[in-house]
Amino acid sequence: MKIAIFGAGQLAMMMIQADKNSKHDYVVIDPTPKPPASMYAAHIQTEYNNPNTIKDICANYDLVTIDFENVDVSAMKEIEKHIPVHPNSKALEICQDRVKEKELFKSLEIKTAINFKINSMHDIEKCIDSSKGYILKSRRFGYDGKNQYHIRPNKKVETDLILSPCILEELVHFKAEVSLICVKSINGYTFFYPLVENSHRNGILNMSVYPSHYTHLQESAELVGKKLLEKMKYVGVLVIEFFVNENDELIANEMAPRVHNSGHWTIEGSNLSQFEAHIAAITGNIDVIKLELKPSFMFNILSKHISDDKFNKLKANLDIHRHDYHKIQRANRKLGHLTCTAENRESLEVDMRKFKNII
Ligand code: AMP
Repeated sequence: MKIAIFGAGQLAMMMIQADKNSKHDYVVIDPTPKPPASMYAAHIQTEYNNPNTIKDICANYDLVTIDFENVDVSAMKEIEKHIPVHPNSKALEICQDRVKEKELFKSLEIKTAINFKINSMHDIEKCIDSSKGYILKSRRFGYDGKNQYHIRPNKKVETDLILSPCILEELVHFKAEVSLICVKSINGYTFFYPLVENSHRNGILNMSVYPSHYTHLQESAELVGKKLLEKMKYVGVLVIEFFVNENDELIANEMAPRVHNSGHWTIEGSNLSQFEAHIAAITGNIDVIKLELKPSFMFNILSKHISDDKFNKLKANLDIHRHDYHKIQRANRKLGHLTCTAENRESLEVDMRKFKNII
């Protein structure tokens, strides 16, 4: 099939790399020069809503997917009149807006942080209990902890985030953050990867570990996943991020309508990576899957590349793989990731300690 991917970052790059037998032809659309996926596919360097490109894609491609959720929804709606877009424009519209996302959670009785729609400082003053902590987040374009402001108890609120529509969330006192990778194929076949446990630094994912300490919450997480996939008529990979609160309950935080950083470990840790699963799901080439998984952890390489010396040292001690996104160093930029696999949870723990000592 001929597949057009909107967004040509590392996620698109790994989708194309996952198609080892070059079953499909890909084109990537991205306004930036030389994005990671342009090394593996034809690149149309243009804005996501360029009408000529949209016409070209509709005439010459079989389907569209994304590696970046903030694509122009009206462009996706236009494309949908001619060829399938997976995930569909309605799902994208919901996932682009934290208020719509939270409203969907509420309508499906999915637990989430107490939240308020905010359009002015006055709205904040009306909603907050000054003895509690909150997070103010912009409704749109928030990722990796960007466009967020912490409101501390009894502290004055001073932020220009309020210049754009926001959501105010009560702080969840969580003991862990976990995520669920859901997969639904166009033929309706659905499966889930086991929950992974995520830790962040400065709001950016630092590490994901499989298995998590919350395997007993898998069933509840999948129930949430099934509800969301069904309601949004979703096809492809959907990732749901949860907090685990002090009562061991899952509190849904947000969704990503795409493959996700917390699923990168599946390249080495699974017989079917999230990238292969997404392409198989959207092209309809998916049969019953029996996942075979290895305990794994994934570490994001941020800001600065790992030197060959350091990587060789890691390699001498661990079953570790490096993925390079071919990007120039910049503060807090995701430059690549490392995945380490082990035979069992105990040896993974030992490997994590070795890893932290070397890194
Ligand atoms: P987000 O962009 O919503 O994923 O937020 C980035 C990070 O901020 C999350 O991974 C959490 O560590 C933290 N965070 C976000 N929302 C809340 C909340 N309501 N309560 C506590 N921590 C939060």
